Amino acid sequence: TSKIAQAEKEGRTWWSFEYFPPRTPQGLANLYDRCQRMSELGPAFVDITMHAGGRTLDLTNDLVKIVQSYIGIETCMHLTCTNMPREKIDRALELAKEAGCRNILALRGDPPAGQHEWEPHAAGFTYAKELIAYIKEHYGDYFSIAVAGFPEGHPEAKEGRDVELKHLKEKLDAGADFIFTQMFYNYDIFAEWMKDIRAAGITCPVVPGVMPIQTYSGFQRATERFGTLVPQYFHDALTPIRDDDEMVRKVGTQLVGDLCKKIIDPNNGLGISGLHIYTMNLERGSRMLLEYLELGPTPQQVKSLPWTPSLTPKRR
Ligand code: FAD
Repeated sequence: TSKIAQAEKEGRTWWSFEYFPPRTPQGLANLYDRCQRMSELGPAFVDITMHAGGRTLDLTNDLVKIVQSYIGIETCMHLTCTNMPREKIDRALELAKEAGCRNILALRGDPPAGQHEWEPHAAGFTYAKELIAYIKEHYGDYFSIAVAGFPEGHPEAKEGRDVELKHLKEKLDAGADFIFTQMFYNYDIFAEWMKDIRAAGITCPVVPGVMPIQTYSGFQRATERFGTLVPQYFHDALTPIRDDDEMVRKVGTQLVGDLCKKIIDPNNGLGISGLHIYTMNLERGSRMLLEYLELGPTPQQVKSLPWTPSLTPKRR
């Protein structure tokens, strides 16, 4: 079993950190250090994204190898279909396997920068479900497969919620094991969507996407880019302090932390135990969020670290 399945089975609260491949060698060196430092926060695994268009394909593979083999944390590699002929997909999967990575987030991918409409590659796949079927066919159960879910609806969806849920279910029927969601800040929308996916016959574990608020401009950029709905009380709390980064982080941590508390509350009936944390390659927001939630590494994780972590486990 993968670490994801293991963590889900144990029922304890767990979390993963998502990083994207930086553009420069200096950025890569910084990320390596940060990722190593953040391993003391006890992520169950680390996600490495893939730039739409396959531009960072090699970097994604390299980062997976570095994190998996040298830092020693379980990885989940994002694999997209944008501009990807089958041979590139084969290579990415082979390299992931060689690096010891056992988890793939199978995605269709965004359109490349500057392009609005998504177009399939002539020798590739059109939907994520085809990629999942392909991975299953060639690798059997070697990889755990996660897929994307959109509590606020996929931006391209034209045919309504039921059709979208049907497409989501098709990905699970094709062999996926987990759903990682797009980030959201509205608990009610998420809870409603959870009820709808369960009613649609989707039974797999769901890992909600959470983005810590680290600066006001970063928060605004991300929510605009993904069209995320921001509750009015977030605006009310953040707008007056928008120029004070320290305050934004502090108040942002409370806002996102309280949302997380509601999400992982065992009494809410949603059965959520994992959080997918969009780090934006930064450390403090994720660290502050976990401290606020009083979450830390397991004693086992602490033992495997070559140094003593500053964060002490409280809740688990
Ligand atoms: P699909 O599930 O294939 O769906 C795409 C669209 O097609 C949806 O509207 C769906 O309803 C529709 N559809 C599906 N099947 C059918 C069908 N049979 N007939 C008609 N319509 C259909 N993007 C990146 O480029 N790189 C990343 O690393 C990355 N990481 C992500 C991580 C997470 C957790 C999430 C939530 C998203 C991520 N994305 C990433 C974004 C994602 O690639 C895009 O949102 C993309 O537009 C949708 O991908 P998908 O895998 O959900 O596609």
